[in-house]
Amino acid sequence: MDIRNIAIIAHVDHGKTTLVDALLKQSGTFRDNQATVERAMDSNDLERERGITILAKATSVEWHGHRINIVDTPGHADFGGEVERILGMVDGVVLLVDAAEGPMPQTKFVTSKALRLGLKPIVVLNKVDKPDAEPDRALNEVFDLFVTLDANEEQLDFPVLYASGRAGWADTELDGPRQDLSALYQLVVDYVPAPTQLARADEPFSMLATTLASDPYLGRLLTGRIETGTVRTGQSVHALSRDGTEIERFRISKILAFRGLARQPIEVAEAGDIVSLAGMTKATVADTIADLAISEPIPAQPIDPPTISVT
Ligand code: GDP
Repeated sequence: MDIRNIAIIAHVDHGKTTLVDALLKQSGTFRDNQATVERAMDSNDLERERGITILAKATSVEWHGHRINIVDTPGHADFGGEVERILGMVDGVVLLVDAAEGPMPQTKFVTSKALRLGLKPIVVLNKVDKPDAEPDRALNEVFDLFVTLDANEEQLDFPVLYASGRAGWADTELDGPRQDLSALYQLVVDYVPAPTQLARADEPFSMLATTLASDPYLGRLLTGRIETGTVRTGQSVHALSRDGTEIERFRISKILAFRGLARQPIEVAEAGDIVSLAGMTKATVADTIADLAISEPIPAQPIDPPTISVT
């Protein structure tokens, strides 16, 4: 399946959860899974290890044969380069801005990181249904923010959608038909490149572990984007630290893929997809999980001491 990996960047309360729910609902996923699964973006089972917030908040929607993996980014605090690592898994970001409030500190914080990583944001001016919404002013402020953050020409030439996540529509025109979120799905598919990793599906398996979670049944779960090759349940792999030290060898006991709100066990996953793996006992964030034939780790951001951003 054709994949897009994106993150949605937003200041708290600008409507990220509501928008993701609407995307799920309109892709048909929500209805099917509603009764059985917890909300992916709101899961609260955070842990910490080595000063890192550990979350594997991601979700996935399917639209006209495309799978859009949506990873969540922590907005307010950056534990040890976590935001960079998470943004390192995606090829595009949707910058969601409340059209009444304009860009806020958390918007700026994550946007600066996205721009520095070379990502080209799609800007969604949200909540335009609010009586005090000023989409034009908000748009100018977003542009000014990008200039302040040294955005390059391509990044400054961002596409814009007007939206009401709550009403479930997004449109290229402020006075458009306001029907549904097709314009957003379509823009993501057209504007965000497919993962370059797809082209490396024939190589031995490797994945950079980006977030760590623990599951009461499966134990440790490491989430990341598959960099090369294919991973299968039962496969023997090893974990390499950033300096190439072998941390442990283990068998993949479970592969979980994001499908709608749920993480579903799958047998095989391919380069470019974002999955969670179980079976390890020591491997952690920033380690490379790879086929035994691979001895070079994937370059990873160092795990810095926690820094707290302005709020
Ligand atoms: P998050 O913190 O970014 O995940 O924001 P939420 O999705 O939880 O939304 C925060 C608040 O804004 C909630 O009360 C939502 O009902 C409201 N909200 C979300 N989207 C819209 C919208 O499009 N229009 C209006 N008027 N309110 C919205």
